[in-house]
Amino acid sequence: MAKDHTHISNQDVQIIMHSRKSLLFDNGTPWMKKGHNDLFDVTMGSYDGAEVCELVGLYILNTLAREYGKEYIGLYRDDGLAAFKNTNGSKADRIRKHMISLFKELGLNITIDCNLKITNFLDVTFNLNTGKHYPYRKPNDHPVYIHRNSNHPPNIIRSLPASISRRISAISHDEEIFKKAAPAYEEALKSSNYTEGLSYIAHQPTKNNRNRKRNIIWFNPPFSSNVATNIGGTFLKLINKHFPKTSKLHKIFNRNTVKVSYSCMPNIASIIKGHNKRIAATHTSKEKEACNCRKKDTCPLNGNCQASNIIYKAEVKTIDNCKTYIGLTEPPFKLRYGNHKMSLNHEKHQNATELSKHIWQLKQNNQPFTINWSIASRAKAYSNESKRCNLCLTEKLIIINTDKRTLLNKRPELISKCRHENKFYINNSSPTTKHRQENHTQLRSEHRRKAKNPNNRTDAKENTPTAEHRRKSYKPTNRTDAKENTPAEQYTNNRIIPVIPTRILYIHGA
Ligand SMILES: [Zn+2]
Ligand SMILES: [Zn+2]
Repeated sequence: MAKDHTHISNQDVQIIMHSRKSLLFDNGTPWMKKGHNDLFDVTMGSYDGAEVCELVGLYILNTLAREYGKEYIGLYRDDGLAAFKNTNGSKADRIRKHMISLFKELGLNITIDCNLKITNFLDVTFNLNTGKHYPYRKPNDHPVYIHRNSNHPPNIIRSLPASISRRISAISHDEEIFKKAAPAYEEALKSSNYTEGLSYIAHQPTKNNRNRKRNIIWFNPPFSSNVATNIGGTFLKLINKHFPKTSKLHKIFNRNTVKVSYSCMPNIASIIKGHNKRIAATHTSKEKEACNCRKKDTCPLNGNCQASNIIYKAEVKTIDNCKTYIGLTEPPFKLRYGNHKMSLNHEKHQNATELSKHIWQLKQNNQPFTINWSIASRAKAYSNESKRCNLCLTEKLIIINTDKRTLLNKRPELISKCRHENKFYINNSSPTTKHRQENHTQLRSEHRRKAKNPNNRTDAKENTPTAEHRRKSYKPTNRTDAKENTPAEQYTNNRIIPVIPTRILYIHGA
């Protein structure tokens, strides 16, 4: 159906199908669904389950609209509601049977209640006899709201009672019904330490809003009540101060185009989850994180050259001064070190980094120097869960805090975009297993070729992250047998980690 409306290439279809493959592992053995021989599944609680549901819903509505018209049929997730005029019992029953068979064709089993005059749908009760609608709650369903003293941005807490009033008013036919329903919600608000009551807001006809689209730049700092600084206010003051009306950039950066809205800090559940993950990860990383140099005493990082996710510091000492260079690496440091070494030894790469430029200058002036590498800090690189790259942020913090007179890094590095995000984009992953394997071998041979013949490498620091990351994530380990494997087993043997497709919607949105 979607193909009727827009162009979808075969590769897109492949990507979408691939990203929907679900795998379940237990102690290293893959599990499969009964009676299925493919991996296609939308799991409960999957990242985009609701969006998939919405798409399926649209398709179903499209099918139903062809039979019954689209005016009186609605669908929300897995609940639908339809109204028919001038139908008697037997006619309604025929429609019911027809609908069930329509859904069967789509492979869905549904239940339909028909001949109703009163029905509950989501949080509203509709009554056709009186033409009124009421708020509805399932029995034993008690509303719970965030506590007044919880660590949320103040405007969220402030506007909560008003937004509840608005919702209850909207689903109440008149004030009388609202007054009947309100006490239960007021009770819930009270138990969350709110003093405000609810008040009826009469339904107002929607005004004709001017829908001019503006390009607004949002700044979303996390909110925490432990921070005393008024970050939003300070930020907006900075905008006023640095882009006054006389500024050339005032047109782009002014109070109408730059806005602040707080985001939330991770909740306790995700903090605990992160903590557990970190504890579990240190066991494995300690074994890995060491040194694989043949001569241990020549290790560039004092026996830590395999450390990953670090910000490193290179101090170049000459007789009269000492310059510092800050860099970061997500893969083990030694890979990055190799690139640096190459740019320091081969004159044609002398412009690869600020560090190599400096060294070559020293060499041309015949000044003796020593380079001392060390770990400045450790931080986690971008992950799909946190949506934050602490590695890049920490590097920038260290660059800012280092004495400018001795620093080799240039200012523009402070505004560079995070490269660690790239590998999570679905268009940077390959759609099929086979494709990936080919890609993988290709990358490896490419890497070998590059290592032998380094002139393909343009920039040691800005080395493309994808090649390195791919090599890291698609490591095939011990293919033991050649027998026919189930699709799931193929995955374990090849150790292919499927990219979590949380970004799939961005493709649709385009
Ligand atoms: Zn080493
Ligand atoms: Zn980053």
